This record gives sequence, structure tokens and C-alpha cells, in this order.
Amino acid sequence: MKIFTFDTTLRDGTQGEAVSFSVDDKLVIAQKLDDLGIDYIEGGWPGSNPKDEDFFKRAAELRLRHAKLTAFGSTRFARNPVEEDRNVRKLLDSGTPVVSIFGKSWELHTRRALGVSEEENLKLISDTVAYLKAHGREVVYDAEHFFDGYTASPDFALRTLEAAKNAGADVLCLCDTNGGTIPVRLEEICAEVRKRFDGILGIHTHNDSDVAVANALAAIEQGFTHVQGCMNGYGERCGNANLCSIIANLELKLGHTAIGSDKLAGITTVARFIAELANLQMRRDQPYVGQSAFAHKGGVHVSAVMKDSATYEHVSPATVGNHQRVLVSDLSGRGNVLYKLEQHGLAKRLARGARRELLERIKQMEYEGYELEAAEGTFELLVREALAPGTHFFDVEGYEVSTKVVGTDSRSTASVNLKAQDGVHTATASGHGPVNALDVCLRKCLSALYPRISDVRLTDYKVRVLDSKKGTAAKVRVLVEWSDHRKSWSTVGVSDNVIEASWSALVDAIRLELMRLTEQDDSVERAVEDYCWGV
Ligand SMILES: [Zn+2]
Repeated sequence: MKIFTFDTTLRDGTQGEAVSFSVDDKLVIAQKLDDLGIDYIEGGWPGSNPKDEDFFKRAAELRLRHAKLTAFGSTRFARNPVEEDRNVRKLLDSGTPVVSIFGKSWELHTRRALGVSEEENLKLISDTVAYLKAHGREVVYDAEHFFDGYTASPDFALRTLEAAKNAGADVLCLCDTNGGTIPVRLEEICAEVRKRFDGILGIHTHNDSDVAVANALAAIEQGFTHVQGCMNGYGERCGNANLCSIIANLELKLGHTAIGSDKLAGITTVARFIAELANLQMRRDQPYVGQSAFAHKGGVHVSAVMKDSATYEHVSPATVGNHQRVLVSDLSGRGNVLYKLEQHGLAKRLARGARRELLERIKQMEYEGYELEAAEGTFELLVREALAPGTHFFDVEGYEVSTKVVGTDSRSTASVNLKAQDGVHTATASGHGPVNALDVCLRKCLSALYPRISDVRLTDYKVRVLDSKKGTAAKVRVLVEWSDHRKSWSTVGVSDNVIEASWSALVDAIRLELMRLTEQDDSVERAVEDYCWGV
């Protein structure tokens, strides 16, 4: 059956504590959601803030091929006739073909929050729906707090739906606004509503009980055909129902059509793109679309997955545009590394001794606290060094760095001694902080010999304490992200001295770049990408 997908990432999703989109971001996201085949895109609440109002003004720039843009708002204020209500006016002014409006289903809210009688509440709903219908809009009626309202008083809650339905609402959408309902209870209530109302019923759930997706699916099992949610489960408090998981489950588990199987293969890309725009780390373990969703680490799992991926994967990762990843780790023994190298034709290029040495080195580094899965640059360097054992660009003879602080002014100076093929190079430089000073120094030493290393620049720097019990004497892992305009990668260093760990990550990045400049080796790059990112 066709299930209509209603995305509210741009409205309810932005209620999430860490989520913020500019108007430009919102426009780009709307376009992506349209490409993905989402049926409705709720763009915002024009009556609530100027940013959302601006979004609808600029929405004319969008070229939506499939989705219907939707504006969100509340039923009219009790004191205003509907045609004079500012909020309702803004909904019409936004010019969207669809309007979703929420009304009260819970006696408690009607009395306490609105301070109106039951009859007045019903009038607010029917007036607003009828007015929007009279202006040619498709109307989605969001029954706010429906499940709590129904539990308190089924008759009261059902009468509000009736008011919306009789006024011409196209969709009656039941909302678990507080996210407190669990699937068995939600399913019972949905079944009762289904018995009484024909036409399109919708479901909007929040994740406060960690069952928002299950709740949405439970409603669909009861014949609901309109489902609301947010990409990556963004939203207020614990988030909205994660639309990525809902769509994948509908398509792959329940035999429904939400966006269609072709579009489904694009969902991972869109989910990650939105996380990127939101400047939020994508949850690695997010079902279906996360980086770890099809990652295998345990040795037994890996060898089974290598024989038949169905042994440890509930669906094929390709169906959602994700990829299987086999992780290198001390847990999994040598199988994983070999698997990756073999897959890309590299194993046979390694001498027997070099292969064993590489595996031992990886094992030892992971034991010391290196996390190679997140540092594809360091891993690539290890593989390249094993493939070309004679290649050596420089040796570090020594380095020194000091920071002088006077008042609020701080200045770091470093000096580095390197031995390269044409002799010893020495440089001194200052920088913004010790790591920057060392970075500048290292490049100064090498730039005459290898001018192209200037293309590599540091884009992110993270420090993680590995054994927090030791306080400031703890071992740290430094992860540095680099980019050369073409691609980006990370290198890692581990030490109980943060400068030493940073230096090691720094030197790895430069060595790697030199290796890459000397010998282009696509199969190494592919093997590394495959293992680290699963692409
Ligand atoms: Zn909501």
C-alpha cells in the first residue's frame, strides 16, 4: 500500500536542542527531500518567527518535482474570528498548497492552556479547517496530545477529530506529542479511531519512550496511511520518529511503498547530507544509514559475513545506499585486514614478511590506543609503507617547542631538525599555538624539496583522553583532519604527551602526502576508503 511520507525536519526537527538551519540550509534540504521522493515537506511555522516566514517567501526558488510544501500553524486564537486571525492569515500568505494545523485533543490543555470550553475548542478547530479549505488548501489536521487526550477522555478526543473531519480536513493526524505512549496502547487507540473514521489517518510520534518508530509502524499496521517524522530523528527533547528508519522498514519489512525502492537507495546520502548541514555528528550506530549500521568487527562475524553477508545483516546495505564495512581491530584477528587487502588486490603485492609485520604493527598500535578506523590516513600510510619498504622521505632528528605567555598574549615558537635525502634541514617558526608552530616548521624544512606539500592543510583537531583516571598525566589520542582540496583524511597520534601525539599525527600526514605524490596508487586509496568509510 502507498504510505504518504510527511517530513517535518524543517519544523519539528529544528526544535531539537542542537539543531539549527539557516534559511539557505532549509531551502537546500527541501530540495534534497524532494529528490528523495518525500510526499510532504513541512517548511516551518510562518506565524511563529521571521526566519520561517522568510523561508516561505523564498520557497518560490525551489523546483519541487514531487513534494508538496506545507506550512504549519495553530487553530485560530479564541478571541479572533478566523478571517481576522493573524496566524491563520500568515498560513494563507505563505502560499503553500498544503497547510497543517494543530488543535487541542486533551481536556486538560483545552481548559488550562487555552482556557476555553469544550464547545469553543471544537469551534476553533472547525472554523480554522473550514476557512483553509474554503481557500483551496489541502488540510492536515494534527490532533495534538491525542493519545493522552484519548486516555483521559475518549469522547472528548474523538469529538475533536469529528470537528476537523466535518469541516473538511483531508488528513486526521494523531500526535503522541509527549512521546509517552507505548506501542500496545497506541495500537489499541489507533484501531478504535480507524473503526470510526474513514479516509486518510496519519501518525506523528515523538521518541521520549524510545519507541517512536515502532509506534509509527504500529499505527500503519492499523490502516494509517500518512506518517510524519524527521530525518535522523531530530526533534524536541528525545526527537521525533526517525523518518529514515520508518521509510526503510515500510519498504523493506512491511511491503508498503513510501518513496519506492529506487529512491530508497538514496536515503543514506540524504541523511548524511542533512547531518552535515546541521553541523551535527551523524550517529554512527543509527539504523540503516549510520556508518556502523553494516560494520563488522568480531572475527567470527567477519569470516561469516565474508562467506554470506546475510549471516549478520538484516537487509542488504545497498538497498538503503549504505555499505558493508569490515573493521580492522584487535578483536577480529588478522582476517579483517587481509580481507580488505585481498579485496583490492593488495595482498599479493605484499611480501610474506611485510604482510606479517603490517598486521603485527596494526595490532600493537590498536593495543596502545590508536583508533585506526577513524584515522584512514594513518592506516593508508601503514599499507603504503608495507608496499614500498624502501621509500623513506625524511627522518626526524629532533624538535623543540615553547610557548610564552605575557598577560593575555601567547606566542609559540618551534624548531625542527630533519634529515632528508640531501642533508639536514633546520627551521624555526612561530605559530598560533604549539601544534601550528610545529606544522609551519615541518613544512618550512620540506618545502624546498617537496613544494606541493603546501596543498595539505589542517582542518580539524581533536584530543581524547584514553585513561581518565590519571588526570593530566593521562595518555591522549590526537586525531587531526586534513584536506588537500581534493579529499580529506585523518591521522592519529597517541602519547602521554599531547605535543608528541600531535607531532606524530602531523608527521604521518606529511609522509602520506609525499607517498601519494610519489606514487599514485588507486587500489590503496580504495581499500582504505572502503575499510574506513565503506564507500
Ligand atoms: Zn511534534
